[in-house]
Amino acid sequence: MRILLVEDETTLAETVRRGLTNEGFVVDVTHDGVSGLWAATENPYDVILLDLMLPLKNGYDVLKELRERLIWTPVLMLTAKDGEYDQTDAFDLGADDYLTKPFSFIVLVARIRALIRRGAPERPVTLTLGTLTLDPGSRSVRRSGTVIELTAREYGLLHYLMRSHDQVVSKSQILDNVWDPAFEGGDNVVEVYIGYLRRKIDTPFGLQTLTTVRGMGYMLTGDRPTA
Ligand code: CA
Repeated sequence: MRILLVEDETTLAETVRRGLTNEGFVVDVTHDGVSGLWAATENPYDVILLDLMLPLKNGYDVLKELRERLIWTPVLMLTAKDGEYDQTDAFDLGADDYLTKPFSFIVLVARIRALIRRGAPERPVTLTLGTLTLDPGSRSVRRSGTVIELTAREYGLLHYLMRSHDQVVSKSQILDNVWDPAFEGGDNVVEVYIGYLRRKIDTPFGLQTLTTVRGMGYMLTGDRPTA
């Protein structure tokens, strides 16, 4: 079991590192938020122990950026009693547990083992098609890591097309799955929204993944450069 400890108080860090090593854990230590974030992004850990007040980048920002990078390693936040933040903030930001300093080493080990048993919490499955990703949890869409802003309708349309990728879907199938059943307008609206989507997910990237299949409908595929 591999643990990342991000803690700038070097004496405390060393005590915890030695104790956890004796318990059979493999422990990496970093002393500031930037190198902590880097280590957590580059290596697989079972648990991250994250101090709140850190040089260069505080624990909240490290946690936030980790989750934005879709890294769901369980995080146990270490907070100080007189801190300006409380555990509510820690949980809001996606910490899986927290401990207030000073903490007992036995409690720390028990909490770590509990987090490992629980594993990373289940997140909605991110859909991936070539360089395009759609995360239903945060309702965010990215191409090669670049965030693409979509309206609710465009998002719904893309979600449907990604679930049906590499298949031709007709305008009426799209209407049935993406528009309200009470929608009275014609199916030309589909064409309009396909156009909006293309200008966001394909054109800026020089790609042609959302194609029109004449007389049949539309198809979304993996990355294909514009012809
Ligand atoms: Ca600190």
